[in-house]
Amino acid sequence: MRYPEKYSVIVIGGGHAGTEAALASARMGVKTLLLTHNIETLGQMSCNPAIGGIGKGHLVKEIDALGGAMAQAIDRAGIQFRTLNASKGPAVRATRAQADRGLYRSAIREILENQPNLTIFQNAVVDLIVEQDKVQGVKTQMGLDFYAPSVVLTVGTFLGGLIHIGMQNHSGGRAGDPPSIALADRLRELPFRVDRLKTGTPPRIDAKSVDFSVMEEQAGDNPVPTFSFMGTADQHPRQISCWITHTNDATHDIIRSGLDRSPMYSGVIEGVGPRYCPSIEDKIMRFSDKNSHQIFVEPEGLNSNELYPNGISTSLPFDVQMDLVRSIKGFENAHITRPGYAIEYDYFDPRDLKASLETKFIDGLFFAGQINGTTGYEEAGAQGLIAGMNAALQVQDKEAWSPRRDQAYIGVLIDDLITRGTQEPYRMFTSRAEYRLILREDNADLRLTEKGRELGMVSDDRWSAFSDKKEAIERETARIKNLVVQPDSPAGQQLNQQLEKPLSRAYKGEELLRRPDVTYAGLMALPGMIEQPVPAKVAEQVEIQIKYSGYIDRQKDEIERSLRNENTVLPKDLDYSQVKGLSNEVVQKLMNIKPETIGQAGRVSGVTPAAISLLLVHLKKRQ
Ligand code: FAD
Repeated sequence: MRYPEKYSVIVIGGGHAGTEAALASARMGVKTLLLTHNIETLGQMSCNPAIGGIGKGHLVKEIDALGGAMAQAIDRAGIQFRTLNASKGPAVRATRAQADRGLYRSAIREILENQPNLTIFQNAVVDLIVEQDKVQGVKTQMGLDFYAPSVVLTVGTFLGGLIHIGMQNHSGGRAGDPPSIALADRLRELPFRVDRLKTGTPPRIDAKSVDFSVMEEQAGDNPVPTFSFMGTADQHPRQISCWITHTNDATHDIIRSGLDRSPMYSGVIEGVGPRYCPSIEDKIMRFSDKNSHQIFVEPEGLNSNELYPNGISTSLPFDVQMDLVRSIKGFENAHITRPGYAIEYDYFDPRDLKASLETKFIDGLFFAGQINGTTGYEEAGAQGLIAGMNAALQVQDKEAWSPRRDQAYIGVLIDDLITRGTQEPYRMFTSRAEYRLILREDNADLRLTEKGRELGMVSDDRWSAFSDKKEAIERETARIKNLVVQPDSPAGQQLNQQLEKPLSRAYKGEELLRRPDVTYAGLMALPGMIEQPVPAKVAEQVEIQIKYSGYIDRQKDEIERSLRNENTVLPKDLDYSQVKGLSNEVVQKLMNIKPETIGQAGRVSGVTPAAISLLLVHLKKRQ
């Protein structure tokens, strides 16, 4: 049966990619349908109950700056917030929050249900309707067909999902959810390159059976940070502590003795796992010289007794899981509420995608999230937002947009994926970005909110708050630049008592702020310096922008130089074998990836600056 209503964009999957995709499209005024297995699992965190961290926090702030939901949801669901790398430079500072799973799901669901232009329907999608390499809609399990010119696929770990616990395995999308087998089979018939990846999760533990008195307590930060640029600390629920314990020699012996029944080490699992989130058996094997590994014991929620022991993800048989858990300090009598497991699933080679996340082979079909080879809620959410937005732009007959590497971590993520592909689950790190000083968490709104507004994704409220903040930063920066501190003025005299090298002449405010021993707050505490107190977020920007202006300007020059050829378009029909001087290897790589721009071609591994010069000469001759 054909569903009577026609939609402009259909999003398949209500995980982190799917919810941001559906919301982005609907915010842009486009009639959107979110189709998912189960409405109760909208926004479900499949693994660790936490959002953010180094690199990932940057993505969350960028999603927020473009009007997305993740930061707002965690502000309402976060039970412990911390700023990581707080003592380091602003480029690598990152926010992380422990989530109450239930509250997070409720927050996402509420945002989805109250979004105009968005309809939700619960049913599994089993097929795509494709005619002449153009997507037309989807078929569901109950025989209902939905039609739309753009479809965003965000089905996470569900495609051909196979769950392993020891030598036992069964089909599943994640614990408690069915896999997507029919859809996986259908997608394998389409011309995409498909492979298998693997990820895993630890056993969960009942807090009533744990001795916290022998563990180290870890409290959150005070004052409590917020994630959203629109967020306030009073939105947060009650804040609680996490705990730290460690594995020991006995734990490692138990794990080693169970390896012959490990699906990973006996060759049952074929998919590659996440390098930066390894299972405990992987850690023991890879770092055999270490006799202890840290475990963060994280509560799953305010009204739940379940604990997430972060650091002991495993797919060892259940009897080994029980022994290894009980060998850990504080867990001697622990009761496991859910076993740890690994899951293998299909993913698509992201080099088959354009920067808009539309597939290169089927018009109107977009892929986002774990199916593109990434791991993590934040990476999924970021891709979802871009895919949903581009699906909406396409039906509006507008040009696609995706941030560049110098504009956002989202740009780094997408460019890495579509240019280099990935052979293992890809996660974000600050080290992946070449322009870290510009791509900070604190300025994500200044980098992206104007673009988000232009694209139709930013609400009036957010726009007004952003405009006020931007204006206040500009006003205060100009004021500080013009401030003068005379050495013999009351301010100068007070400052001289604090400085190692006293002022010998009149100093401008910006010169003072660039000194490592002067802070904005310190400057404002001097007599006569403060005119009108500014909000903390404004003060933070003024301080960072002035203090690091030398480095920031240098990085901006670098970006300008690299952008000269970045956006030069490479025609789709370009025959690289006709480009004089290119080696066979480079021709093959470029034919394979078909980069959209010179910038992207330059980042394909093995494509040298000399090859780029040859390409530029060739393009000039074609004109
Ligand atoms: P998901 O969150 O998986 O959402 C997929 C959605 O699609 C679900 O709502 C599902 O119901 C729906 N769906 C699927 N098939 C269909 C269909 N045919 N029709 C309709 N709806 C469908 N990340 C980390 O960063 N670190 C980790 O250590 C980690 N460990 C993990 C361990 C396990 C066991 C699992 C399952 C995941 C783990 N993850 C981890 C990954 C993290 O959960 C994902 O990266 C993230 O959830 C991906 O978001 P997504 O939106 O792409 O997919």
